[in-house]
Amino acid sequence: MTPPAPPAFPMHVSVDEARAHLGALLPERTAETVPVADAAGRTLASDLLALVSHPSATESALDGIAAREADTLTATATTPVRLRVVGESRAGVPFTGRVEAGECVRIYTGAPLPPGADAICPVEQLDEERPEDGGEHVLLRRPASPADVRPEGGDFRTGEVVMRAGQRLTAPRLALAAALGHAQVPVRRRLRVALLSTGDEVVPPGQPLLAGQVYDSNSVGLHAMLRECDCDVVPLGHAPDSPQALQAAIDRAGGADVLLTSGGVSMGKYDFMRDLLIEQGRVSFWKVRMRPGGPAILGGWNGLPVFGLPGNPVSSLVVFQVIVRPALTGQPPQTLRLRAATPFRALGDRAAFWRGVIEGGSVRDYGQQGSGVLRSLSDADALVVVPQGQAVQAGDDVDVILL
Ligand code: AMP
Ligand code: MG
Repeated sequence: MTPPAPPAFPMHVSVDEARAHLGALLPERTAETVPVADAAGRTLASDLLALVSHPSATESALDGIAAREADTLTATATTPVRLRVVGESRAGVPFTGRVEAGECVRIYTGAPLPPGADAICPVEQLDEERPEDGGEHVLLRRPASPADVRPEGGDFRTGEVVMRAGQRLTAPRLALAAALGHAQVPVRRRLRVALLSTGDEVVPPGQPLLAGQVYDSNSVGLHAMLRECDCDVVPLGHAPDSPQALQAAIDRAGGADVLLTSGGVSMGKYDFMRDLLIEQGRVSFWKVRMRPGGPAILGGWNGLPVFGLPGNPVSSLVVFQVIVRPALTGQPPQTLRLRAATPFRALGDRAAFWRGVIEGGSVRDYGQQGSGVLRSLSDADALVVVPQGQAVQAGDDVDVILL
């Protein structure tokens, strides 16, 4: 008897290989231009230069007076320094003259520092004096300080590359893009990702649950994760465990860049997603050397890339975090190095991603690590990365992926 032929596709790939396979199936990301106010959560498609300097002129960081530091060095509360007020500089309306020895001008936050002055004394450290002759003077209770002067271009200078392609436009980065002078920003076109849950027992929340059924949590969790990755989601709902129903659902994904499914890819008789891809589609790999999430399968169906995630709620979300998110965003998972407060066991044949709780700067085992225990993901702060065969002892440093 001849042994069965080995499969015509890779089995038991590493996490890195799985990520690379998926990345290779995704289309090149072209750029589009959007108004900066509409760009929250988008990804910059090219570097952004400063079109102006900020501050655009040397200015005051405080309300007070601008003076020559050298005139004020002896000022104390008991021996104040007296300066003559010769004018005012306010934001948008600079003082036109020059500050000479013994003089100062009143100045306000963001107002240009007048020529001659090099230091600021805040209004809280001033006393007013109005002598008979009508001249205006102030008494400084402490020296004026150059530290309260904001130099021209201290934040950024015209022509400087301030933001990099690939950066996600968070609120502070959007504000910065506007400050650089950009009314429009170049962003990567969003990938369209179709999403399908599978399983005869899976029902949408909002209707009564019969014995043996389970609410469709994967659709909701994966949808939210896809939005975090700046993708357009094409929700396909859920399909029962039948090859015909699955085919019909996949056909509704036409036009998407990739289809993510959950369920039906493991070793069971009713795992038809697996059969469909292996028997009638194309397979890039089946099974990843990781836990949770081992049964994942990547393939294609009529030119559409299809990534079949396992149905277990923890597995599908962990595979998303560890493989799908980095492939979609082009960024490796963000890891932190933390001290382990408890041991984390290693698996001999695969990497483990245990749920961990961060407390006081170290990470401890959440305890319940079953891939059906969705609370372990929602209660945990991080996935603790335990490479194949490398057990972690309490006190060791470990990499964690923040959830
Ligand atoms: P499967 O991968 O299809 O064998 O499913 C593994 C486990 O995950 C089973 O207990 C399913 O009931 C559960 N499951 C599958 N799909 C979902 C889903 N969309 N939401 C919640 N649980 C699911
Ligand atoms: Mg199933």
